[in-house]
Amino acid sequence: MFLRELSASLDHIKGVGPELKSAFTHLGVTSVGGLLCYYPRDWEDRNTIVPIGDFQRATVCTQVRVIAHDWFGFGAMKTLKIHVEDTSGRGVLVCFKRPFLENQLVVGNQYWLWGTFFYKYGEIQSTNFEVEAIQGGTSKNFAHLVPVYRLSAKLKAGTLRRCIKQALDQYAGPLENELPDYLIERRGLFSKSRAIRAIHFPTSVEELNVAKQTLVYEELFYLEMVIVQRMIERRRAPGEQAPDAPMSSLQKRLIERLPFSLTQGQVAALADINRDIDSPYPMARLIQGDVGSGKTLVSFLAALRAAETGGQAALMAPTELLARQHAENAARLLEPLGLRPAFLTGNIKSSGRAQLLKNLALGQIDFIIGTHALFSRDVHYRNLRLVVIDEQHRFGVLQRQAIVEKGDQPDLLMMSATPIPRTLALTVFGDMDVSIIRDMPLGRKPVITHLALQSNEMRVYDFVRQQLAAGRQAYFVYPLIDADENKSLKDAESMALRLSEEIFPEYDMSLIHSKLNEEEKRITMENFRKGVIRMLVATSVVEVGVDVPNATCMVIEHAERFGLSALHQLRGRVGRGNEQSYCFLVYTDDENNHLSDDSKDRLKVMKNSTDGFVIAEEDLRLRGPGQIAGIEQSGNIGLSIADLIRDIHILEHARTDAFAMLELDPELSQSEHHCVAQVLKRAPPFANVAL
Ligand code: ADP
Ligand code: MG
Repeated sequence: MFLRELSASLDHIKGVGPELKSAFTHLGVTSVGGLLCYYPRDWEDRNTIVPIGDFQRATVCTQVRVIAHDWFGFGAMKTLKIHVEDTSGRGVLVCFKRPFLENQLVVGNQYWLWGTFFYKYGEIQSTNFEVEAIQGGTSKNFAHLVPVYRLSAKLKAGTLRRCIKQALDQYAGPLENELPDYLIERRGLFSKSRAIRAIHFPTSVEELNVAKQTLVYEELFYLEMVIVQRMIERRRAPGEQAPDAPMSSLQKRLIERLPFSLTQGQVAALADINRDIDSPYPMARLIQGDVGSGKTLVSFLAALRAAETGGQAALMAPTELLARQHAENAARLLEPLGLRPAFLTGNIKSSGRAQLLKNLALGQIDFIIGTHALFSRDVHYRNLRLVVIDEQHRFGVLQRQAIVEKGDQPDLLMMSATPIPRTLALTVFGDMDVSIIRDMPLGRKPVITHLALQSNEMRVYDFVRQQLAAGRQAYFVYPLIDADENKSLKDAESMALRLSEEIFPEYDMSLIHSKLNEEEKRITMENFRKGVIRMLVATSVVEVGVDVPNATCMVIEHAERFGLSALHQLRGRVGRGNEQSYCFLVYTDDENNHLSDDSKDRLKVMKNSTDGFVIAEEDLRLRGPGQIAGIEQSGNIGLSIADLIRDIHILEHARTDAFAMLELDPELSQSEHHCVAQVLKRAPPFANVAL
């Protein structure tokens, strides 16, 4: 029997009646298998004695003698106090709602005690404690590592531990391994039966660690099995490269008309895309490239190919600002080639929308660009062949799916500036292929970054003035829109006033933030792009995608308030042309806004690196596991113990092993793979999850 097949009802566990059963249901546990997979959220070390005298340093864990009982309060409020002592001192157990402890803790006898103590009313008191009589032999809840579970009001720690222990005794012995023996051996893991016992009741920290590794590996192995199988199915012939697909005539013509040549990375990504589009299977490709690496152009070239074969292409961007910018570029670059691009705004009332939708349904638009409005219910395509998703990490899995469903298995191209470790990308995006653009367009100079203390802001402004005098443009970014939110911080509104009236009266500037309506934003961005406005005061709305190559200064005030990926994205707004660009990170460090160590670290990383891959790695290190932009939304993969980011190394092993197994034995017919075939057949993992 596999653990995941253990569907026996909880009443089969000795000591579980209807009441406990319903308490478990509240926690989402409905079967014996579910209970055994209800893993502890932590383990308490009750191996090490912490005497009462050390209560301020750690949770007390000791043997005590009961010295007296007394009571305080009246009526329903009457509460028992039990005085105890160990060799280091005395403490008081305040037994709220536990009057029964009067009979359990007998004066003069010895007990195990675990509890958090505080100094209160002249005593060392605890209200949160566990006790157990000391008997010969082994203790239930003491003298070893004790599991800590997520509890509910109806389910106490002791009861839960007892039920799980009982379930282990009744069911864990004959559990079948879900991994082949040779993998268990190669990766130094436990059998399933031992792992499941040890995850709940480990005898040592070492045993606990191997148990965790075993269960994490097993979960990730099956995740990779499912993904690799699908990948092989999609490609039919694994390992076999599709023939090279030459550039189409429109693609060639666009490239000829450009004032620059494509980078190597762009050329390679385009070759991958052309091969995918020509193959009989739908493309599923992720393009990773740092901010400014020229992904948009690659997606336009893909759209040309789709249009040339008589299909339609759609490009979805996360903000209206960015979508509009793409649409304007598409009009400029693609209309001269005879393509019919269009911009679909989210504004239902906008005039022309009805006509536009009609044209789209008739196939009179080849390339439509917009936000998630592209998959609104009233939007119909005649023949949607290519879906491009820009800044894919801004969209959830469901939104990505909704747009794809507008066509009949269209090709899918996702673009991301967040560098994600390869194995992770391949996992989170299911069986996506990945193209990485590593190089920047020729002539780009890395942005020079300066850190400046708030009190030196004037020197920053003076520098920006020189750049403006030389004809360049500048962004100023603030963490807040207006002063209502927090008076001790600079905000975009007040600073727009101050910058335009006091500091740069000779230059035109505008303010842009999310509370403005789309039309106001559009006009502002257009004027900034044309250079009519020389300075833009903004919040992080300019973070994604905005492309104005003549802007060479990015001033971020209260930079300590922004995360690393936001800072990197914001800095990516400059350095997009051939001029040297500058980024000023102005930070505050005073008694109102003290600079934390984390903020200091982030600023240093930004100063020392412009490489998105390095910054993403640092981000991971500083923020800890479970937090890469674009990965959180993929949390619905349905993992119960593994964490894709924390366990990335185990994930890599699991993927290698799954691949090797399927390559050698695609039918899983060899006897050592029997258990894998059985798991996939009898209890398919991740069956309900869209990967
Ligand atoms: P991102 O990858 O961040 O989306 P964009 O597609 O916005 O980058 O491109 C940034 C800028 O670089 C745009 O102005 C674009 O026209 C320009 N660009 C794209 N490819 C090249 C190239 N090969 N050489 C020079 N400039 C390029
Ligand atoms: Mg972009």
